[in-house]
Amino acid sequence: MNKRVKVVFLDRDGVINAKAPEGDYIKSWKEFHFLPGVINAIRLLNDNNYRAIIITNQRGIARHLMTMQDLHVIHSSMEDVLQRYGAHIDGIYVCPHEKGTCHCRKPDIGLFLQAEQEFPVDKSKSWMVGDSESDIEAGRNYGIRTIAVANPIPLADEQFPNLLSAAYFIVNG
Ligand SMILES: [Mg+2]
Ligand SMILES: [Zn+2]
Repeated sequence: MNKRVKVVFLDRDGVINAKAPEGDYIKSWKEFHFLPGVINAIRLLNDNNYRAIIITNQRGIARHLMTMQDLHVIHSSMEDVLQRYGAHIDGIYVCPHEKGTCHCRKPDIGLFLQAEQEFPVDKSKSWMVGDSESDIEAGRNYGIRTIAVANPIPLADEQFPNLLSAAYFIVNG
């Protein structure tokens, strides 16, 4: 059996990159802007043997505002930048569906279960980090500890202003 791994599941929009305006989506690389400290945060997780896995709802695909190919281009550009700074994302799992039509859109746990196909997740040492209530609910539904960033979310186990401070907390215990 594979050795279990510690995972930090990361929401994308509002955690890694600046969110699109309400009702809009990040549809191209030029709309993708890393938030401050994020690259250092991901490298810190990498260096401390946490898998960094993005799980993200991208309903803009169901709404035909962007394609899965557009999303792949954004993510490969993102990974190129991370790599340039010695950081990397271990996996990206996307729900492209409309609300109420699938079992993967957070707060459902389908994306975590997809990740489990590839990573033997040690839930007791893993975290979900998000900026929305649905992220925190998803992490709780899956059975891992949760961190809210940017917005205080009372349901979360911990609250931090940004991903870098959350990452310091995770690696230092
Ligand atoms: Mg978000
Ligand atoms: Zn879905």
